[in-house]
Amino acid sequence: MKTLFNTIIYFILFTTISYPVHATLKVETTTQDLAAIARAVGGQHIDVHSLTLGSRDPHFAVAKPSMIRRVYRADLLLVIGADMEIGWLPPLLQSARNSRVQPGEPGYLDLSLTIPLLGKLQGTVSRAMGDVHAKGNPHYWLDPRNGVRMAKAIAQRLIQLDPEHTSDYQANANHFEKNINTKLIGWRKTLRHLNDKPVIAYHASFVYLADVFGFKIVDEVEPKPGIAPSAASLSKLIGRLKNEQINLLIMEPYYERQSSRYLSTETGIEVAVLPQSVGAEEDITTYVELFNRIVKILKNSGAK
Ligand SMILES: [Zn+2]
Repeated sequence: MKTLFNTIIYFILFTTISYPVHATLKVETTTQDLAAIARAVGGQHIDVHSLTLGSRDPHFAVAKPSMIRRVYRADLLLVIGADMEIGWLPPLLQSARNSRVQPGEPGYLDLSLTIPLLGKLQGTVSRAMGDVHAKGNPHYWLDPRNGVRMAKAIAQRLIQLDPEHTSDYQANANHFEKNINTKLIGWRKTLRHLNDKPVIAYHASFVYLADVFGFKIVDEVEPKPGIAPSAASLSKLIGRLKNEQINLLIMEPYYERQSSRYLSTETGIEVAVLPQSVGAEEDITTYVELFNRIVKILKNSGAK
């Protein structure tokens, strides 16, 4: 009976959707960063949509029926990988029943496999213990050099799925790379004052940003990625901040602010809230704009 019920539900959900014959490729992405890069590479040949919003914590999305319908129709699914979507993507893929976008198929692209990941953990650390970065740090899109790697991998896959537009995909990826490389020179110049500076982050998400701009993340407000700070962990951090010259705390907009306010009151540390993704603020719609904004905020930060 349950099976029959499920069959009817699927029938209702999916048979009203007509499948286009000569349409642009339907690309679904797990984040707005992926969507922005895919849009830059795919141009008018693809129809891109992100399953989640850049204003939310990407570790903890919730699979909704509208997302199932989207994945069902997708020709290509782009994911961050490294366990970032582990809480919601596997059940979503199962419910969507789209064989084209299952792991291992040409319609599934895990971008983490194209990136030299930082923070790969040794030993027995697992997500079950609260650490959401058990497979290595998944926040790699926060290094524009990785954005270029992502664009190239996406171009390659689009070419595989849609060889007719090979030259456009190649040209767009080349243009993306050139543009990022040019911008990067300027961004680095603007953030020269942060060179070698020790910085605290709320969550272990800015290691890639630190790597490209030459500052050092020496500690996190979270005692472990995904674990909220406690009174004890905060007072330990205050001890460290009072003993060492650390002048800047960076964090995403979606984390609680009490802890950083408390640290700031106790030690005078400056807190900079950085958009961590395309879509973190409504007017950040491109990958380049994301870094323009981050650099603008950091321009006058941490220089004490
Ligand atoms: Zn994380």
